[in-house]
Amino acid sequence: MSGAVTLTGTTPTEAVLAPFRAQAGRALMLGHVHPDADVLGTLLALGQALEARGWSVTYGGPHPAPAALVFLPGVERYQRLHTLDGRFDVAVLTDCPNPQRTEGLIDQARRAAATVVNIDHHPDNRRYGDVNWIDVSAAATGEMVYELLVGLGAPLTPPIATNLFTALHTDTGSFRYSNVTPRTFRTAAALVDAGAAPAFVSEWLYERRAPDALRWLGEALARVEVSDDGRLAWLALPSGSVPEKFIESEELVNYPRSVATVRVACLFRESLGQVKVSLRGKGDVDVQRIAARFGGGGHRNAAGCTIAGPLAEATRVVLAAVRAALAGTPEAPEAGGSAR
Ligand code: AMP
Ligand code: MN
Ligand code: MN
Repeated sequence: MSGAVTLTGTTPTEAVLAPFRAQAGRALMLGHVHPDADVLGTLLALGQALEARGWSVTYGGPHPAPAALVFLPGVERYQRLHTLDGRFDVAVLTDCPNPQRTEGLIDQARRAAATVVNIDHHPDNRRYGDVNWIDVSAAATGEMVYELLVGLGAPLTPPIATNLFTALHTDTGSFRYSNVTPRTFRTAAALVDAGAAPAFVSEWLYERRAPDALRWLGEALARVEVSDDGRLAWLALPSGSVPEKFIESEELVNYPRSVATVRVACLFRESLGQVKVSLRGKGDVDVQRIAARFGGGGHRNAAGCTIAGPLAEATRVVLAAVRAALAGTPEAPEAGGSAR
């Protein structure tokens, strides 16, 4: 893109801040497919900071916010978008490495907005914005948007703090994964100072199961398989085996991942003839490279892709690719310890 600006540092430069300096403008906060707490929390937080300064903000993306995230302050404003109405001064995408993950809305956004700002922490980001801020050291885009708000001198209200804290919480597996840094905790502390309540967020994320969810969990966990050498574990869910809503409310891939000897864990979920694959590693192999071979992407230790069914065939080809990647790593795994 001609005239595009790219920044890879941890602190936003004036080029990143400039699109948000105006006193009042129109902003589009555009989410990626199947939005999670990192994308929603950051879009809501930045949008709310702009609204406080008189901006008018539209929030939305190709899919609605999941029911599990109803507690994010302002999430009721996030709409499922088919077409974009009107013009915008700025269109912002967060946590979205690939413009295709907007299902075509990015093309409309480019026509409707003077400036497209791409804020992300994925190493495979395509740098599709007029302004690209890609910080791969950030555990979540929540850390980056926190820096952006500090740079803008925007007051951190409790709703903004809750949105950003939840983004950090979920992308770090509750501050447990290897992407966590001192900066993650410093940011989290500042957000708690600003009014985010950790117990409130944890309760909404982990203590709101439906009464039948534990039965579905049992149903799902009975399908976990572990390879003979113990390094690979997976869970394949045929469509209809457990409710979609249940799958979306759980990070099921964490269960095969939690086996001590496992180096790569996979979740295969079949839906409407397609198979959504989640891959998790523990540092030995780059699962993003495996996902990329199937048209997906992500991070070194957390990636995904969507491939054609049937489930058995999708499972076979992905497991073969994972086995091939594992073949290049030491045979005897050490138990325990390692994180995402
Ligand atoms: P998930 O397994 O869905 O939680 O996703 C883990 C990571 O992989 C996230 O960073 C996603 O952005 C990325 N990811 C998941 N599915 C895809 C996909 N179909 N294409 C590209 N990236 C994906
Ligand atoms: Mn995301
Ligand atoms: Mn993220």
